[in-house]
Amino acid sequence: MSDSIFTKIKNKEIPGNIVHEDDICFAIEDINPQAPVHVLIIPHKEIDKVSNASVEDISILGHLIYVSKKIAAKYNLNDNYRLTINNGAEAGQSVFHIHVHLLGGRSLNWPPG
Ligand code: AMP
Repeated sequence: MSDSIFTKIKNKEIPGNIVHEDDICFAIEDINPQAPVHVLIIPHKEIDKVSNASVEDISILGHLIYVSKKIAAKYNLNDNYRLTINNGAEAGQSVFHIHVHLLGGRSLNWPPG
């Protein structure tokens, strides 16, 4: 299987703004931001979606959320931000490599569309 678009960004095969990287995940700025801050937090492991994650992936999934707070602090979001994971095309997922959307920097409405 070919690398996901996110892995290609990480590997510098295509352009992207990488804002975090550690042993388990990396983060990039979204190319089509839906808020002043819109960062995607992505595991190195190419799991396609949450519903296909396995028990071995629990620590990876938890890590993504833990890292989100560090990135939110870096962007001075003052503890006000949204984390979103779209799972499946009908739920809005377009890139099938798990990613957490970190959105902030403006008031966010609920419910989402
Ligand atoms: P989702 O629709 O939940 O799968 O989210 C995929 C996200 O990836 C969208 O918000 C896109 O704007 C973003 N995206 C797609 N291609 C790129 C890219 N080359 N660089 C950065 N973000 C991207």
